[in-house]
Amino acid sequence: MPEHKITKAIRTRVDQTNEMEHSSPLFLTSSFCFDNAEDMRAAFADENDDNIYTRFSNPTVQEFIDRMCALEGAEDGFATASGMSAVFASFMTFLKKGDHLIACNAIFGSTHTIITKYLPKYGIEYTYVDAGDPKQWESAIRPNTKMIYLETPTNPGLEIIDLEEAGKLSRKHNLILNVDNCFATPVNQTPIQYGADIVIHSATKWIDGQGRVLGGILVGRKDLIHEVYLFCRSTGPALSPFNAWVLSRSLETLDVRMERHASNALHIAQALENHSKISWLKYPYLPSHPQHSIALKQMKNGGGIFCFELKGGLESGRKFLDNLAILSLTANLGDTRSIASHPASTTHAKLSEAERMATGITPGLIRISVGLEHRDDILQDILQTLEKC
Ligand SMILES: *Cc1c(COP(=O)(O)O)cnc(C)c1O
Repeated sequence: MPEHKITKAIRTRVDQTNEMEHSSPLFLTSSFCFDNAEDMRAAFADENDDNIYTRFSNPTVQEFIDRMCALEGAEDGFATASGMSAVFASFMTFLKKGDHLIACNAIFGSTHTIITKYLPKYGIEYTYVDAGDPKQWESAIRPNTKMIYLETPTNPGLEIIDLEEAGKLSRKHNLILNVDNCFATPVNQTPIQYGADIVIHSATKWIDGQGRVLGGILVGRKDLIHEVYLFCRSTGPALSPFNAWVLSRSLETLDVRMERHASNALHIAQALENHSKISWLKYPYLPSHPQHSIALKQMKNGGGIFCFELKGGLESGRKFLDNLAILSLTANLGDTRSIASHPASTTHAKLSEAERMATGITPGLIRISVGLEHRDDILQDILQTLEKC
């Protein structure tokens, strides 16, 4: 039994075939055959773990799940076609009419849409609480509260939520603690260790790490994941075996990639922190970050993302994007290639200024997802475009 979870994740694989291949094969098949009626009956009766149909299970998808469980320290998991299908499955499996959900106020845009637009259609209530103030969460708890949902670090404002506090609170009130761990990745932060019951990922981001495939996963307590499995088996958000195969290969390099993403990000964030065109810069591993001590406690490094505010506001934000020579303008994050985004003129442009401010989207906010290019080239590109802002 390997001692370290990264070794376990890299060494976990589907059983070798008679070909004795070193890399795992890809089971690109929608269904599985049975020798006879009795074997087929037993599989359908859940008397064994035989694969039946890829919407339910598939060996290549299971390899990805097993590797993620090893990294997160989780008992079981279910992989989905995207991060959003994992988020949606976590709500629909555990919440019903009359239930109440507490979520932190800074969450991923599409998650916000599910909570505010779709959950109320099914009679599920919600309260948003200040991510940085755990006391507020406790006063938001009602008799019908079922789940606490949070992201840390948050997107794009990089607030850090104290997972230990969240874990204690959810234990005390017997709530399901559901954590979107996409920004940190399991090599940097493992929410289950603090009491999370369900951990969600958009595997599209750092886990793929090269901007190729969509994917998502839920991992956590075995009894809860079984409920997720039953919901997904019937509703069909299954991950493609091809994408699972790609994502499992990516997991083998996740630990080393994240170390470099984070050391590049720290170096560049330090170099930019006091730049004359910037009013503030946030990176979890800089002492200037408001929740720096929590970041040090629960994260192995500061991650691959930093954000800052341009003094020139909205117009400067547009100029910043227009004058970049190397960094990509694209909606993704967590790629080998560095990416810049300006939420106020793009992802959050449809909101009013007041609505944007309420979710921490200031006019000149720039988010940088730091890639694996040479850190000096990334920094130089940012410095030269800052001159024009
Ligand atoms: C991208 C993202 C999602 C959604 O994932 P998809 O794979 O795009 O569906 C959810 N949460 C966070 C924090 C994300 O960054």
